[in-house]
Amino acid sequence: MKKPIDYAQYANLSPFELKDNLIKLAQSHTDRIMLNAGRGNPNFLATWPRQAFFQLGLFAIEESEMSYSYLNEGVGGFPIRTGLTGRFEAFIRRNYNTPGVSFLGKAFSYIRDQLGLDENAFLQEMVEGILGCNYPVPDRMLHFSEEVIKSYVLQQMGAQGLKTDELDLFATEGGTAAMTYVFNSMKENGLINKGDKIAIGAPIFTPYLEIPSLNDYQLVEVLINADPQLEWQYPESELRKLEDPSIKAFFLVNPSNPPSVKIDDKSLQLIADIVKKRPDLIILTDDVYGTFADNFQSLFAICPKNTILVYSFSKYFGATGWRLGVIGLAHDNVIDKSISALPSKTKQILNKRYSSIVTEPDKLKFIDRLVADSRAVALNHTAGLSTPQQVQMVLFALCEMMDADQSYKSTLKNLIRRRDAALYQRLGSSKKRDINSVEYYTLIDLETICHELYGDDFAKWILTNKNPTELLFRIADEAGVVLLPGKGFAVQHPSARASLANLNEHQYAAIGSSLRKLAEEYYAEYTSKHKKK
Ligand SMILES: *Cc1c(COP(=O)(O)O)cnc(C)c1O
Repeated sequence: MKKPIDYAQYANLSPFELKDNLIKLAQSHTDRIMLNAGRGNPNFLATWPRQAFFQLGLFAIEESEMSYSYLNEGVGGFPIRTGLTGRFEAFIRRNYNTPGVSFLGKAFSYIRDQLGLDENAFLQEMVEGILGCNYPVPDRMLHFSEEVIKSYVLQQMGAQGLKTDELDLFATEGGTAAMTYVFNSMKENGLINKGDKIAIGAPIFTPYLEIPSLNDYQLVEVLINADPQLEWQYPESELRKLEDPSIKAFFLVNPSNPPSVKIDDKSLQLIADIVKKRPDLIILTDDVYGTFADNFQSLFAICPKNTILVYSFSKYFGATGWRLGVIGLAHDNVIDKSISALPSKTKQILNKRYSSIVTEPDKLKFIDRLVADSRAVALNHTAGLSTPQQVQMVLFALCEMMDADQSYKSTLKNLIRRRDAALYQRLGSSKKRDINSVEYYTLIDLETICHELYGDDFAKWILTNKNPTELLFRIADEAGVVLLPGKGFAVQHPSARASLANLNEHQYAAIGSSLRKLAEEYYAEYTSKHKKK
């Protein structure tokens, strides 16, 4: 017989080590495959905007080869602007039935007819951009790319109250780079200082818990805890903590990770009211999951003056490898105001910091400071997201905006919901559907499930006699299923996080069955112990 595992060895592991050990254990049996539901990486991806990307690339190469062709050595030139649109339209007509080509044709007319942009100049930007033959200029974001993504962001974040000429975007290497840049520039610009209090909406994606406590920042974290009894909304008493004037900023993920729930209208309104009393409060909202929700409204829409928006294309378009994200900031914002109100000594230091890039550094907007700081200021001229990345970002956004029936969104929603249903059905739980949930992740609450399956006494017995981490190791070892402990995400109750995005439906059913089997075994243990008495 196999030696029983000593779970005590795992007691002090970091969340990352814990995950690695769970995976090692889940892989340790060669007769079955591992079911890793610990990963947030989706296993679906948007194909049309990628087809369009590759077709545009082929067109752009043809354009480049119009120059120097006598050399015949694989050397091309910059695309020739004269006649570009005509040649593009001919390319579309010639190849209309090739996947991706009709998309390009429709996108071109969408740019002109719906967005009202200069389609010829847009095409130039795309063709030069996809070839990657120039440094990104402007470095913050290419002009037309920014215009298109602004429309996309305002639409998807429910912020139609803002106009595209009332905000700026900075294209970044994914949402996580955006986060790093924001933390860093807030520190460099004296917006957050060592010892400052920062409110964090919990449970949350772990880096938001870890970064503020780094030596670089030494911030004091105040958790704003969402309540599972309120279907993971923030209770009013928790949100009221933001009224404390010593709290400098509020960091949150909305819809949340892991509960996967968007903030409801009541709480949005409450936050808006609190911000009226706290006009200086800075909100940093990471809305990467916003595109999965119906009628989503970001805090960027509700409190545009106070809010730095982070959005990423990683999850919705299945594009984690592309590294595509943006930071959004309204022109009229409290961050720029706070910077101009800094003590003159601090301002002098900052003016010196940014003097190499502009003659009037005190007028440099925070969003442009982010760009400069992302390349240690001195390398500002080579900042910015690679131009082919910006082209793919534009095509992703156009795909969603042109999808009038929301067919991509509803396909993804159905896909995820079926997985969720498969898991809970096999587990034997009748989980209710919450209208605010996007179900990208699910938190399997130990007490709730045990209670539902075998009653209150059993649930209490599990909580007092079994270590939740041990349960995760057993399920990894015995069934090859990897779930992450909710505790790592500042979930207060013993729970496991399963991503619903990265395995197939039958595998979620298998996870449900494994969990059920484990529960049955524990219940057998429980009943045998209680009989003996
Ligand atoms: C997955 C995820 C991201 C995505 O980050 P990228 O760097 O864009 O891949 C950002 N924020 C949260 C909360 C996430 O869960």
